[in-house]
Formats: sequence, structure tokens, C-alpha cells
Amino acid sequence: MKQIHTNILNIKDTILGKITLTGKNIFGRKDYILVQKGLISCPSGYAAAITNITDIIGNNPIAGGTDIEEFHEGDVVTINKEGEITFLYEIESTSNAVFATGRCNHRCIMCPQPPVVHEEDMTPFNMKLISLFNKNTQEVGITGGEPTMIGDKLFDIIKQIKKYTPKAAISILSNGVKFADRDYAMKLALCNCCDLQIDVPIFSDVAKLHNEIVGANTFYKTVQGLYNLALFGTKIGIRVVVHKKTYKRLPQLADFIYHNFPFVCNVAFMQMETIGMAEENIHDLWIDPYDYNKQLVEAIEILRSRGLQASVYNAQLCVLPEQIRDTAIQSISEWKDVYLEECEGCKLIVQCGGFFASNKKYHSSHIQKI
Ligand code: SF4
Repeated sequence: MKQIHTNILNIKDTILGKITLTGKNIFGRKDYILVQKGLISCPSGYAAAITNITDIIGNNPIAGGTDIEEFHEGDVVTINKEGEITFLYEIESTSNAVFATGRCNHRCIMCPQPPVVHEEDMTPFNMKLISLFNKNTQEVGITGGEPTMIGDKLFDIIKQIKKYTPKAAISILSNGVKFADRDYAMKLALCNCCDLQIDVPIFSDVAKLHNEIVGANTFYKTVQGLYNLALFGTKIGIRVVVHKKTYKRLPQLADFIYHNFPFVCNVAFMQMETIGMAEENIHDLWIDPYDYNKQLVEAIEILRSRGLQASVYNAQLCVLPEQIRDTAIQSISEWKDVYLEECEGCKLIVQCGGFFASNKKYHSSHIQKI
């Protein structure tokens, strides 16, 4: 999430609010944060104000010395007592997501965001957050941690998204384990979201290897979870993060997916983000993406020739062989997507997904403008 550091006055607890640049056409100021050039204090009634002025005064919450060009009417942000402004929803983004929990029942060796053990229930905050989203939002993700760790509250979140953003497609990232419980899979289906997709990772066709990667003996639960989700007609995608431990068996995994889960709507092969646990375990995991092209092409051809849709996420077009470039999706969130010096003048820069900002250190040595 995009973050800005600023200086603050009268902010003792985290403030959540929707950005307004004009203060016009709003019902009640208390959910709004007024962003204006030249303000020195926060007008009464607003949750807070944000300004470019550094010398801020008054008795109401205000953040100053900020580049106000960063804000758009309808963004939703928090301001905390350390002076950090965090963008939780960006009106111009197509990758807005609700962070359901930081907890997880897996310990994946390449997890970019290692799970927390204890946390306060985030659902009341998330319910409020969703109520501030623009009603014309086209897509909302639910991520974590593992979103099913919040149990049935996940369905409250889904219903809230449906209520406040009725046009939005919902995508959930889950390890699928909890859906081994058939009743839980049924409850998801009973939310009645026709435009909902759940994406579940399977890292190997070999149970032992999958379990080693996720740090839990859950392969068969995930498999059962996939069957239960399919039983109730939920749209399912499969995700495979490609690294040193997974690349060799990509063709076998593709074959396994075709034979066991022919009902999935997409199989996404994902380049690894090298932060968190991935960075800690980098020597066991890093392989230049160019060096697994053979296995990747084979896996994609196995799926495509049998009528299954395959995609490649987080990849750079110059690294991918031409025959599978059409499967590349621009999947890196805008706020962490960057390009390198080598990309200058590249004809494909508009179509290319670029790089995770955190992957500047670890990226393919075959980057070359086209
Ligand atoms: S040079 Fe850069 S922009 Fe061009 S295809 Fe490669 S990574 Fe993408």
C-alpha cells in the first residue's frame, strides 16, 4: 500500500477517512478527510485535514507538509499517530483489496509477508473501510494472511463488499485448507456472489514437496477444499509461485491440474516477489526466470492444448519466449510496480508488467529492451 510520511497535530489514534478535495456533495463530514492546499487548520466536523503547509495550528486533527497531488477525490486513507498516511483504497486503482487478517495456517518459505501470531479482530475496521469505497468500484480483492482464518466473518466482509460496491468482482486469495470443511465451502456459495473467484496455490503434484513449501501437512486438505469449492459451483483459479523448488516439475504439475481439477478457470504461474521469507530463503529459492522458460512453456502448452486457460503473472515480456508472451498479465499493483534503466525506449513498456520495486536486487539478467 502506498504510504506518505508527514507531520501531524492532534492525532492520538488512527483516523480512517475518505478523501475530499472540495468538501462538496458529501453527507456529513465525520467520515471525510479534507485535503486542501494552503489550509493551516482543520475545519470543524471533518475526521481530519491534510495540507501542504508545514506550520499547522488549531485543535482539530491535521497532517501538514504533504504533497497533496498524491490524493484523489474518493481515496480512503488512514493517518496514524506516527504521521504515516496509508492509502487503503485508491479510486484510480484496479487492484484495491481488503486485508482480512495477518494470521495464516501456513508458513510458506517464499511468503512475502510473514504472518503474525496475534492481532486484534480487524473485521469491524474492514466493515467501516468497505463502507467508504466508491459504489462503482469494479474489483475488490480479499487478502491476508489467510482470509479464512477469520472464520465466518469472511462472509460478513463479502456481503459488505456486495452491499457497498455492487458492481465489483470479488477475488479471494486463500490456501484453500479451510474449504476442506464442506459446510464452510457451502457458506461461501450461499453468499450468492456470481462474480467471485477464489485463487488457491498448489505448488507441486507431489504432496511432500507442496507440504515442504507451505510448512504444513495440508496438501490433501487443499485438494479436498478445491473439490468442495467446485461442488458448490465457486469459480476457482490455481496459483503457482515459480522458484528453485517448483520449476522442475511445472509440466507434471500442469498435467496433475488438468487430470484432477479440470474445472478451474485459470492457472497462473507467478514470478516470486523477493521480500519477507523469500528474501530470507533467497539462496534456496532464487532462479533467474529466464532459466525456467523451458519448463514454463511446456506447462503452459500442456494446459492450453487441453483447453485450460494459463497465465503468467509478474513477468517481464523480454524474458518470456514469444510463444507464451500472450499469457502475461500486468499483475503487479501500481504502487509497487517499477521499470529498470534497461527498459528505457522499450517498445513493449506499455504492455509489460515491469518489476516489483522490491525485486530490483533480484531480477533476470536477460532484461533487454525490445
Ligand atoms: S525491457 Fe523492460 S519494459 Fe521492455 S519487456 Fe523488458 S522488462 Fe519489459
